[in-house]
Amino acid sequence: MEELQIKVEKAHPIDFGRGIIRLDPSTLLSLQLSPGDIVEIEGKKTTAAKVWRADRQDWGQGIGRIDGFTRQNAGVGIGERVAIRRVEVTPAEKVVLAPPEGITMEFGTNIQAIIKHNILKHPFVEGDVIPITSSMTQPTPGNQAIPLVAIEATPEEGILIITESTEIELRQKPAKGYEDAARGIAYEDIGGLGDEIQRVREMIELPLKHHEIFQRLNIEPPKGVILYGPPGTGKTLIAKAVAGESRANFLYIAGPEIMGRFYGESEERLRKIFEEAAENAPSIIFIDEIDSIAPKRENVTGEVERRVVAQLLTLMDGMEERGQIVVIGATNRVDSIDPALRRPGRFDREIEIGVPDSDDRLEILQIHTRGMPMAEDVDLEYLAEHTQGFVGADLLALVQEASMRSLRRILPEINLDEDEIPEEVLEKLVVNPEDFEDALTE
Ligand code: ADP
Repeated sequence: MEELQIKVEKAHPIDFGRGIIRLDPSTLLSLQLSPGDIVEIEGKKTTAAKVWRADRQDWGQGIGRIDGFTRQNAGVGIGERVAIRRVEVTPAEKVVLAPPEGITMEFGTNIQAIIKHNILKHPFVEGDVIPITSSMTQPTPGNQAIPLVAIEATPEEGILIITESTEIELRQKPAKGYEDAARGIAYEDIGGLGDEIQRVREMIELPLKHHEIFQRLNIEPPKGVILYGPPGTGKTLIAKAVAGESRANFLYIAGPEIMGRFYGESEERLRKIFEEAAENAPSIIFIDEIDSIAPKRENVTGEVERRVVAQLLTLMDGMEERGQIVVIGATNRVDSIDPALRRPGRFDREIEIGVPDSDDRLEILQIHTRGMPMAEDVDLEYLAEHTQGFVGADLLALVQEASMRSLRRILPEINLDEDEIPEEVLEKLVVNPEDFEDALTE
């Protein structure tokens, strides 16, 4: 058999940015592949990835796990099908890389070498987005990788691979048409929350992408969904990810901020945002701390709240039934919002976003330490077990504090008047177990 159809699933956090596809033994067998081989992946577009063996729980399901970059390069989303086939690769003589529009990059000295080291053996085709996960480059928020577009390559055709002798040229001028790569929060950026992501996908991504299914079943896709749970558990993150993965626009409203405005201004602002969402549909409107706009009546109800809630409801009632706009409201407690908001046709679905358990915490730690230079004896599993009660935002703060401690250790060696910090000093920037230990007892 030369070609196989498989279903795309999201990558494990540790595989992020590596250009690999995880396949099960039966797929490997039928395509006569071994781990390390390169396969062509054909969705709406064609790209390539290196084959790795799937974990046992994935066997026999006809799936392949690839990360958000590879999905973008193949033009597919999670749950969609791609054709894979074994291919021969050609060493690239030269590749020209440029950041996508929306990302500015500082190119320090030695950057070519750092990039090459980072993407050595990475398979690609011209036009692909290749992520750089090195800590030497400044990561984009929440993404921990810099996407670069292979705008030109020699040879021009076929599946190429970066080797030691590939010449790498960097262009500052952004590559057009890759805005998605710059936006990119993907499901891989979320630790844990597997079931929650599944529900969010069914409720929000599916209707945004395939309205025809709902039409055929004659059911209405939801207009409003409430995400509730403690602060810092990833409600905003999951909303951004579903927007990114559904290629929808993301519009953010901070509840408290919209309330503190002059007479009529809050409503005007809400109308503007809904207009913008309609013009750029599909869109997701995210209202953070929705309880501050629409508190339960018995708590407080000022004149402003009443008007803003009325406006919000009017806007939602007026939204076309085509499912191209979804409003997501986030709150700490679902019972603290005005019940009028939760009637059918408004925020009539809810998903709880809970506190992570130790397996989830491990995933979150893996996500936030991606591309971070860490000593070999840093034990993330130990940390995950000893951070009971920490939410995602706490774990992020822990990782940041630990890396600041490693920085403070070498700070005396840094001459701040120098333009560029020497390589040998930078190499000492390694986060070790004590940094984490200290950060924990902070
Ligand atoms: P919420 O909206 O629930 O208050 P956020 O989504 O704003 O929380 O989380 C703040 C930050 O904490 C995120 O940007 C992310 O870096 C980190 N974070 C929170 N939850 C998770 C998670 N489940 N996985 C990975 N990172 C997380």
